[in-house]
Amino acid sequence: MRESAHWGYTGEEGPDHWGKLSTDDMACSAGSQQSPVDLTGAIGADLPKIEIDWASGPATVVNNGHTIQINVADDSMLRHGADSYTLLQFHFHAPSEHLVDGKAFPMEAHFVHKNVATGGLGVMIQPGGSNDSFAMLAAKFPGKPNAEAKLDVDPSTLLPGALDYWAYAGSLTPPPFSEVVD
Ligand SMILES: [Zn+2]
Repeated sequence: MRESAHWGYTGEEGPDHWGKLSTDDMACSAGSQQSPVDLTGAIGADLPKIEIDWASGPATVVNNGHTIQINVADDSMLRHGADSYTLLQFHFHAPSEHLVDGKAFPMEAHFVHKNVATGGLGVMIQPGGSNDSFAMLAAKFPGKPNAEAKLDVDPSTLLPGALDYWAYAGSLTPPPFSEVVD
């Protein structure tokens, strides 16, 4: 993987400047299906169910300087219609990157999957209830960039009971913004 230009979420390295960071990141300013989006005016459709078959097991929690990311073993699958995806990692954004009818959520979890193309599953998170798995993970979040911790995790316990969803063709949200994400 190429060495990415230095980037952040604020100031000179923030989102307004991401399209100029390096020529590899041009999709951010010149692309046609950039994520995140405001999920508004959705059209009801008869879509295939999302089937989650994620494994419980050892994982590594990494503070990569941009987010807290949990890297998992390659035995967790998601099926959607004829497509099968392998869960690579999941991570958190606060506030949410996607909007729903113009409204941000306090937090959004991204479950990043790999297929021939790339599939992502974002889950909006609201305060109010508690989730034992998230509390267990948060207790292990490394405070410093480049620090990591080991733990066992069952990612499916972070999902809501009903998996109703929005679907669209988008992109990676951090550099290099590749437009390969369902
Ligand atoms: Zn993300």
